[in-house]
Amino acid sequence: MKTVIIIGAGLGGLSAACRLAKSGFSVTIFEKNETIGGKINYVEAEGYKFDTGASLLTMRHVLNELFVFCGKRIEDYLEIVRCEPICRYFWSDGTRLDASDDLRKTEKEIEKIEPDDAANFRRYLADSRRKYEIAAKTFLAHGLNDLPQLLRPKYLKDLLAISTLKTLDAHNRGYFSSPKVRQLFNRFATYNGSSPYQTPATFALIPHVEFGLGAWYARGGMYEIPKALERLARELGVKIYTESAVEQIVIENGKAIGVSTGGEITAADFVIANSDAVETYRNLIDKNERKIFTDEKLEKREPSCSGFVLLLGAKKKYPRLAHHNIFFSDDYKAEFDAIFREKRPAANPTIYVCATSRTDETQAPEGHENLFVLVNAPYTSAFIDWEKEKRNYRDSIIKKLENFGLSGLNNSIDFERIITPEDFERKYNANKGSIYGVSSNGIFSAFLRVPNKARDIENLYFAGGATHPGGGIPLVLLSGKMAAEMIEKAHR
Ligand SMILES: Cc1cc2nc3c(=O)[nH]c(=O)nc-3n(C[C@H](O)[C@H](O)[C@H](O)COP(=O)(O)OP(=O)(O)OC[C@H]3O[C@@H](n4cnc5c(N)ncnc54)[C@H](O)[C@@H]3O)c2cc1C
Repeated sequence: MKTVIIIGAGLGGLSAACRLAKSGFSVTIFEKNETIGGKINYVEAEGYKFDTGASLLTMRHVLNELFVFCGKRIEDYLEIVRCEPICRYFWSDGTRLDASDDLRKTEKEIEKIEPDDAANFRRYLADSRRKYEIAAKTFLAHGLNDLPQLLRPKYLKDLLAISTLKTLDAHNRGYFSSPKVRQLFNRFATYNGSSPYQTPATFALIPHVEFGLGAWYARGGMYEIPKALERLARELGVKIYTESAVEQIVIENGKAIGVSTGGEITAADFVIANSDAVETYRNLIDKNERKIFTDEKLEKREPSCSGFVLLLGAKKKYPRLAHHNIFFSDDYKAEFDAIFREKRPAANPTIYVCATSRTDETQAPEGHENLFVLVNAPYTSAFIDWEKEKRNYRDSIIKKLENFGLSGLNNSIDFERIITPEDFERKYNANKGSIYGVSSNGIFSAFLRVPNKARDIENLYFAGGATHPGGGIPLVLLSGKMAAEMIEKAHR
């Protein structure tokens, strides 16, 4: 039986592990933390439950397909529920919009802001769907190692149709005249940790993912997803070792032959790094073995944005909140300039608040709120010392939420935790604290990622947000699928 070692028990690693175990490989995962799930993590305290990472599941068919591949029924592992409304949007002048996958409802909501934009909404979504369908059969179905295949005439015409020099913001200006409606559709750039003023219009495919395919939540909390995959992996015979950091990938004659943990070498026929691909090259692979990804080259792979998170238990209910809420800043451009150009936290940021107890009463004591508050933040650099600044930033965010109508929030908090980009960097070995891996702030960025199969080291593969096709739950599950399929092919 061929052996595979996977570094990291994030979703990309668990996805690859389940598939390979089902296909007859002997699979072992080494995870540095005490729990599995990577950036999908949780905190449970004083009657409150919080997810500390992802809060929204999209493209649920990708998760479903993993269970089907393994011969199981997802319903036996997870209860996936629809979020309605998908998201409630607030602006500082009191305007509010509920976005729903019932398109007539959303159309009516947009109409209240700008009737012409409501008329363009379906046209925009039709374009979004077309872009998604092309991406689904090209980028989301093939690894970057298949680039020559993707450039064949069969796909090339389609790929050229969705590749563009235009930014997402420029694209959205072509459809929507209201700055508010544009801001709403610009926000989708943050689903891969990028700026709408830099990311290409190709990512206008994301609104179809949400409005067309739906927004979902795992009852019990999003951590139920890695828990379900852990159960599935163990049932298939995968061995999982937590608190087992890999110190090095052992390479002989240009071939990965195992890993070293706690000074001991474990041999394997194949190695998959689910650990951040950039960090893996930087820290786990000897410099002499790196023919392509030198430190200088790695430095040019811009990380995605990071996140500043507040977990707030409040002894009060805020009925104006839906499950997902966005409180928009007044100047979106200034916000992204601060994050990506100045590498400073935005002074007036857009704030995301997730109140899972709207869908799932078990998440907070009766009459209380468990609020997950997320603000896009710059990846770590010399421009910010979060230890020094986190308290003031926390105060400014809470004040802003109070101004948006969450009155008395500060005084109602009876549990609190702050998570900064430095925490994401330390806890998950995430490149500069990035939460989605590598940014897509450039037309070629998608092609410059570390590919799923190392080009310079044999038998080494990558799965996770910093490799192809990118960050976010469905894409890292797909990256695990691609790595597993490549190993099967190499084995055959
Ligand atoms: C705050 C936040 C909000 C988010 N919101 C959403 C959302 O709403 N929807 C969505 O789809 N996505 C969201 N994401 C992104 C999504 O959570 C990630 O893209 C995804 O979970 C990353 O999975 P991964 O496979 O890349 O692995 P990771 O989660 O990065 O896991 C990698 C694992 O490798 C381990 N590791 C690293 N180095 C070593 C080593 N040397 N030895 C052993 N183990 C090692 C780490 O400890 C970690 O467990 C969010 C992320 C964050 C942080």
